Amino acid sequence: MEFEPVIGLEVHAQLLTRSKLFCGCSTQFGSPSNSNTCPVCLGLPGALPVLNREAVAMAVKAAMALGCRINPVSIFARKNYFYPDLPKGYQISQFDRPLGESGRVLVFSGDRTDSGKIVNRKEKAFGITRLHMEDDAGKSIHEGLPETDTKTYVNLNRTGVPLVEIVSEPDFRSSQEAYDYLTHLRKTLLYLGVCDGNMEEGSLRCDANVSLRPKGAEKLGTKVEIKNLNSFRFLQRALDYEIERQARVLSEGGQITQETRLWNESESCTFVMRSKEEAHDYRYFPEPDLLPLKLDSTWLAQMQKELPELPGSRIHRMMEEYDLPVDDVLLLTATRSSADYFEECAKKSANPRSSANWIMGDLAYALKNAGKDIEDCPIPPANLAALIRTIDSGEISGKIAKTVFEEMCRTLEEPAAVIKRMGLAQVSDETSLGAVIDNILAANPKQLAEFRSGKTRVLGFFVGQVMKETKGQANPQIVNDLLQKKLSEG
Ligand SMILES: [Zn+2]
Repeated sequence: MEFEPVIGLEVHAQLLTRSKLFCGCSTQFGSPSNSNTCPVCLGLPGALPVLNREAVAMAVKAAMALGCRINPVSIFARKNYFYPDLPKGYQISQFDRPLGESGRVLVFSGDRTDSGKIVNRKEKAFGITRLHMEDDAGKSIHEGLPETDTKTYVNLNRTGVPLVEIVSEPDFRSSQEAYDYLTHLRKTLLYLGVCDGNMEEGSLRCDANVSLRPKGAEKLGTKVEIKNLNSFRFLQRALDYEIERQARVLSEGGQITQETRLWNESESCTFVMRSKEEAHDYRYFPEPDLLPLKLDSTWLAQMQKELPELPGSRIHRMMEEYDLPVDDVLLLTATRSSADYFEECAKKSANPRSSANWIMGDLAYALKNAGKDIEDCPIPPANLAALIRTIDSGEISGKIAKTVFEEMCRTLEEPAAVIKRMGLAQVSDETSLGAVIDNILAANPKQLAEFRSGKTRVLGFFVGQVMKETKGQANPQIVNDLLQKKLSEG
């Protein structure tokens, strides 16, 4: 029997506020353990939460960017459970009245071939059930400290940090669709400036729900939740593993148990963590220490106005404006800085295709080697554009341009300065090129004789010799013309 996977994602994104959701403690990552804490986030008796206005603004922008309807009134609720790193004994979350609902995003997704290439990329719509705000729990540390074989440490710096949880509809039918959606979501949050998208530091976390059903069936199968997917690669590998595992169980006539599983990257498998809890296990009730969150329509309109150009529309605009294929534009728009860099370079060079090639090729390579992001690229887009113009005008060849680019990376000079200092400008002067050609013809009588006897492909040999003699700086068109002329003069 053939099965169809049904996948939904729950993404937790840490909002980039400077203070926590309900107190003034810093959200700084990497501070000394338990230093960013106070009676509120430690859950001491009598301490009262006060909502962070900036966190609400960021959550609202995220909800708007994901096409959600914003509820004018939303309610904070207590989600009760015990964890050593959750001193309050509950998380303040939102339950039956979340901040945003019924969103929808359009994502370019495709099919992954066995070699990992993405083909048939086209835009697909994925639904978003809800976006709500909540405070984060702390962190239990099981390794890297003394006696961690018998002890667990707790760091409460993260306790109370603002999060949005974004729950998708079960709309993904392959691990690739889930991967592309998460990429799009991360990009959107980065463009909004509301999350740094760093999966290693835990500011973007992803859990997945996976079930299988016979192809063509309507009814959903039993779902399994997978946690611990802290990279894009883990997400994809864990989903592929789980889809295969469930297909095997079902094919053998077995049943899937509703449970939570963890992805283990080193063993490349998922394993059972606990049986899946239901919403009623958490005993949600409205948070008595916080008023309902009421959002003023004028303020909401202001938030809408402050939204930047979002990845979706920017991708479409750039494909059209610069006539580039979708895969290139997806790469170039990975971050706002990289899209801005490309657009400035494309405009100043008047050559978008070449700008894209340099940015995705030589520049990306140089940045990677230097351990830098495009945000701190030492070569301003105007300089790369100037380099492209000198190639297009015939002042230097594409090959010489590579040398100039390497020098630009090394010395941070403008291309014109490098070309002048190193004497790399293309030689188009017929007199000096003519003299070089005469010498070469005189030095190679055998090849000259071959040419005259009709072996015209020897022309290539002569062109090569001239380029070698001029260290690649001769204008190839002029060399060709001159050679033709001199050889026919015989
Ligand atoms: Zn605090």
